[in-house]
Amino acid sequence: MSIADNLLKYKNELDSVGVKLVAVSKNHPADAALEAYNAGQRVFGENLVQEMVEKQAQLPQDIEWHLIGHLQTNKVKYIAPFVKLIESVDSLKLLKEIDKQAAKNNRVIDCLLQIYIADEDTKFGLGFDEAIELLRSEEFQTFKNVRIVGLMGIATNTALEGQTKAEFQELKVLFDGIKVSFFRKEDSFKEISMGMSSDYKLAIEQGSTMVRIGSNIFGKRVIKHWKAE
Ligand SMILES: *Cc1c(COP(=O)(O)O)cnc(C)c1O
Repeated sequence: MSIADNLLKYKNELDSVGVKLVAVSKNHPADAALEAYNAGQRVFGENLVQEMVEKQAQLPQDIEWHLIGHLQTNKVKYIAPFVKLIESVDSLKLLKEIDKQAAKNNRVIDCLLQIYIADEDTKFGLGFDEAIELLRSEEFQTFKNVRIVGLMGIATNTALEGQTKAEFQELKVLFDGIKVSFFRKEDSFKEISMGMSSDYKLAIEQGSTMVRIGSNIFGKRVIKHWKAE
């Protein structure tokens, strides 16, 4: 199946259950993203700043770009003018820099807190306590140019469905708790970004509102990177 065929299959399936599709075009050329765009996709995810900046310059300007990979504070400035959603906020320090760069660009940048739910030490993210500590901190209250609109999590890469399901469940429980404690009156706090090619169905069953799908749409990743992921 072509990229356009794959895209339409997922888009229809996800539209029917009200879940947003983030097409993860990382490690694929801009042409591949354009094929998905021409099939109707407008939301794309990238995990590297440089790759996102290059594609953003080449592709139609109405694309919503989501940064889904670990973000270094010194690179926030490159994406601050255009990024639609930073899904991978994993420290107060990073959020502070996003706030500063967003202010310079006269905008408010939407963010998700990335929560560590996997049973692996390679994945970035905040622990449950750290997320709550961040939201309670005085410094967080001073940020005027960032808006937290939900949580993101990456489950363990495992064939054990029970474990994946439990991890997604934990993220949903945390989301519900944070919603009640910190964002009760804010309708904008509503996103749970969880689920990728291999586990999106389980994620949706557990309450995902946004899935990030790469290889099932674009095939195996082809760009060899100047830098390890
Ligand atoms: C690469 C990536 C995805 C997409 O993974 P696939 O298995 O190709 O669907 C989703 N989320 C994050 C954070 C990623 O880095």
